[in-house]
Amino acid sequence: GREQGARRRRLDEAVAGVFRAPRSYTREDVVELSCHGGGVAARRVLAALLAAGARLARPGEFTLRAYLGGRLDLAQAEAVADLIHAETETAGDLALAQLAGGLSRRIGALADRLMDCVAEVEARVDFAEDVGGVEVPPHVVAAIEQTRADLAALLEGSEYARAVRDGVRVTIAGRPNAGKSSLFNALLGESRAIVTDVAGTTRDRVSERLELDGVRLVLSDTAGVRATEDPIERMGVERATESVEAAGLVLWVVDGSQPLAAEDLEFHRQHHGRRVLWVLNKSDLGARAEVELASSPEAANVVRLPVSALTGAGLGALRDAMVAALGGARGGLLGQVSNPRHAEALERAARLLAQASGAAASGAPGEIVALELRESLAAFGEVTGTHVGDELLDRIFSRFCIGK
Ligand code: GDP
Repeated sequence: GREQGARRRRLDEAVAGVFRAPRSYTREDVVELSCHGGGVAARRVLAALLAAGARLARPGEFTLRAYLGGRLDLAQAEAVADLIHAETETAGDLALAQLAGGLSRRIGALADRLMDCVAEVEARVDFAEDVGGVEVPPHVVAAIEQTRADLAALLEGSEYARAVRDGVRVTIAGRPNAGKSSLFNALLGESRAIVTDVAGTTRDRVSERLELDGVRLVLSDTAGVRATEDPIERMGVERATESVEAAGLVLWVVDGSQPLAAEDLEFHRQHHGRRVLWVLNKSDLGARAEVELASSPEAANVVRLPVSALTGAGLGALRDAMVAALGGARGGLLGQVSNPRHAEALERAARLLAQASGAAASGAPGEIVALELRESLAAFGEVTGTHVGDELLDRIFSRFCIGK
């Protein structure tokens, strides 16, 4: 093309794929050049293209164009990023289902039914001569209520789906010598952390990734939580506390063969209502802690799992309890709403629907009910992308990498 007399130079041997609109990723005319990898070839080809007037794509620009061109809706476009970021097979399956439009279709069907309700209510309001006197007929109230129930069903399992999508940080904490490092190793199934007989020797946090029932876990072993004057150990203890605060799940390990310590009950008081599982370790040596816990009114609601990190007894039950604490059931159905942005919008839509059906059932004017229904529809639209601003789009597509 625009070589203006420059000598033709061979840059690489490449393949050009031509995709004519609308049968391309973005629905526009697209040419894809596949050149050789490595530093030189790709850089040369890129430089030549830029010199000829092309520019670099912004992160997620191709998918944004596909969305703006109507080939994908927003939930599908976001699934592209989820697929790229997926770290487990299950997370990949979840993203693929969303990319195929599974979630969009379910939401579309609910939105259609709701739109019919709005249309009927507004028509009745328009038709009536006197303002404020039109009630919502029972079959429309029933349809609103049904939509709310279907939405609640759609949101079921979304907590676990989110865990699958984003992964979860799991912190192992407890007093020195309770067996945290041993448990860490037992869960990983390999020797990673250094196990010692001297209390307080695991000074730093050790993290490993592992997969549990489709969820990517980042398991962190922490230094023992106990009051200490030693500055180095002190640092470890502070970090352990931070790690507990940031975790999605905490395994509080105690030496179950020994009486409970003040720190154990103190931890229970401080981390009340969090996702905490008590691991009563060293079950091969006895169950004294269990006996104490059972008779302590304060710790009556603690989820406790007798385990022996040494023999492996109870580890299966612990894994099941971890899955359950994350909102799942082993081998159970996976929710469809994995994206927290979607879950938030749909939960808001469900609340608005509950308000609308409540108001309609108690004889509120049709105008009011129609307004609430329209607000709920807008919340649906935030998921599929019919009701989103540029700022949100920027935020969403900045998660993508360049070239997607
Ligand atoms: P940490 O300080 O909490 O990380 O504890 P460690 O994992 O280093 O374990 C402290 C000591 O308890 C070591 O001697 C381990 O071998 C021992 N230990 C850990 N788990 C068990 C268990 O389930 N049964 C028995 N009998 N000993 C254990």
